[in-house]
Amino acid sequence: MSIRMVVGVNWGDEGKGRMVDYFARDVDYVVRYQGGNNAGHTVVNEYGKFRLHLIPSGIFYDNVINILGPGTVINLEALLGEINELRSRGISISEKNYRISNRAIICFPFHQLQDEYEEYRLGSKMFGSTKLGIAPVYSDKYLKYGIQIGAIFHQAYLKDQIERCLSLKTPFFEAVYNKPRIDAGKMFEWAINYGEKLKPYIVDTISLFREATKLRKNILMEAQLGSLRDIHYGVYPYTSSSCSLSAFAPIGSGCFSRIIPTVTGVMKAFSTCIGEGPFTTEMKSEIADKLREIAHEYGAATGRPRRIGHFDAVASRYGVITQNATEVALTKLDSLSGQKILKICTQYLIDSFKTTVFPITAELIKAKPIYIEMPGWEDDISTIRDFNKLPSNAKAYVETIEKLIECPIRYISVGPNREAIILR
Ligand code: GDP
Ligand code: MG
Repeated sequence: MSIRMVVGVNWGDEGKGRMVDYFARDVDYVVRYQGGNNAGHTVVNEYGKFRLHLIPSGIFYDNVINILGPGTVINLEALLGEINELRSRGISISEKNYRISNRAIICFPFHQLQDEYEEYRLGSKMFGSTKLGIAPVYSDKYLKYGIQIGAIFHQAYLKDQIERCLSLKTPFFEAVYNKPRIDAGKMFEWAINYGEKLKPYIVDTISLFREATKLRKNILMEAQLGSLRDIHYGVYPYTSSSCSLSAFAPIGSGCFSRIIPTVTGVMKAFSTCIGEGPFTTEMKSEIADKLREIAHEYGAATGRPRRIGHFDAVASRYGVITQNATEVALTKLDSLSGQKILKICTQYLIDSFKTTVFPITAELIKAKPIYIEMPGWEDDISTIRDFNKLPSNAKAYVETIEKLIECPIRYISVGPNREAIILR
């Protein structure tokens, strides 16, 4: 039996979907343990190119059961849309390979509206939310106004819970946003309409994983976003609203096992960030624009251009620590081919102090990057599968990062396809 957690070490979009698709060949279960359809996990394999939002990235293997854990938030309509889209492309999704925890929380259309209203209200101070309702639905969860998806089986209870939630939402929408009340009956119909079709998949994941553990199955836990967007340890409040750390994976999946997991921290060979907030190593726009095109750095969930930065060893080391990563998968090394000079940020200068400790946001906004510079390489490395065959400057770049983050880099991804990987 094995447990592997595939988590993000940076701001998200490191290539977690790509790595889960790679590792899922050896597992029986893949479980997403937090977040909602704000995730955009890109997978490129023999079936084509896919952008997954709520379907775990193990869906391309016939014998893998894919699960949405209790820590996730689910827009029922969006999930069904995604299931239908995948089916239309020949991917099978059935009771055989797909499950949803009965404890996952429903993300309603009014959560999405609240997200939009709030970004609009904030104006220039907006967070750069995906506007999919994720922060409002997690807030409701912790306010105890959330509604578990298992309530679909209990219509009177579901109706009652929708009314209870809207009893707070309506005066709030009216007073803060000057927006009309939400019709509870319509929301009930929405939940029943889409929920009915999802009923066959809804289960108790604690029982499921107890059984799986007894049978010594291999389990992979898939995170959304990265350390720096984690609600507790990320660049707060420029974070997501869920816990993206490996320590949360057992809670968010319902798999409480004594097996010591392998934690694979996925890290990009340069920095990217979507949304607002301090981004210490952000590149000047001329260089950033070029690399954005080479590396196709546009959001998988929203299509927004990603902000681009030099590799930030201070932030990434912090990402490794907070993820408790036992190994790192470094992605997109191929995208750096052709860069004359590669900068790596090794310290921050905050006021007049130099530090390697990643600080809280109040200090981070003042941080100036201190860089070392390394020579780049020209060659296309995307077909290389042996570390020793990489150009010496590429090897030196990887080895320098490895020292700075204090964690072994065991996988180096050199292309978006499943097999474009170097094992060390
Ligand atoms: P995730 O959210 O962490 O799963 O990452 P995304 O899918 O949002 O973003 C990663 C992007 O990089 C996707 O477009 C992937 O297809 C692509 N990608 C992943 N690994 C590599 C790699 O090693 N090289 C290249 N060129 N692209 C990669
Ligand atoms: Mg993504």
